[in-house]
Amino acid sequence: MSNVLVYTLDGKIYINLTNHCTNECIFCLRNDKSDVKGQELWLDNENSTAQDVIEQFEKIYQTTPSKEIIFCGYGEPMLKLEVLKEVAIYIKNKLPQCKIRINTNGHANFVYKRNIIPELKGLIDEFSVSLNGATKEEYNELSQPKFDEAYEEVKKFIKACADENISVVASVVEGYKGRHLDIKKCEQIAKDLGAKFRVREWIENGY
Ligand code: SF4
Repeated sequence: MSNVLVYTLDGKIYINLTNHCTNECIFCLRNDKSDVKGQELWLDNENSTAQDVIEQFEKIYQTTPSKEIIFCGYGEPMLKLEVLKEVAIYIKNKLPQCKIRINTNGHANFVYKRNIIPELKGLIDEFSVSLNGATKEEYNELSQPKFDEAYEEVKKFIKACADENISVVASVVEGYKGRHLDIKKCEQIAKDLGAKFRVREWIENGY
């Protein structure tokens, strides 16, 4: 076994920083699978450094020169904020043509007890934030957050991205095992927060 910190999917490069998460989403792919197209995303440990990530990135970039790099794996990438920042700085300096996105649960400002978005300005081109519900109840059922204020925090996080003029997409997973969200209301919430909106239809395999 070895730590797969960087992997590819459909010609794009993804970065898998951690297996920790402040949600336990009922649809989370890692509940059902340990790999993404054969790339094992459960890590042996949580000790990897930015240098470890960069080494794997450099190797993978040689065969997959993706213009889009996405922080997204089997865990919440922003729980490794310092590693994430270091890697993003490296990519932006070396490959300024690449767009960097973070797929996040939007809990980071709650976790760090400060607004961390300004620290990522100029590094991150887009945030994709899991809104996953028009109400706290809908959100809690799907996302099973580990703290009570999570839904409000997600909305505040989305607004904080928009306030910094960073592109932000609020996303929802629709149709998980017959569950349906109030999509119109979710879309309006996203709009009111200054975000774009994306519905991801749930599919069994996840991708
Ligand atoms: S936020 Fe992402 S990593 Fe965390 S449990 Fe949900 S789907 Fe899985």
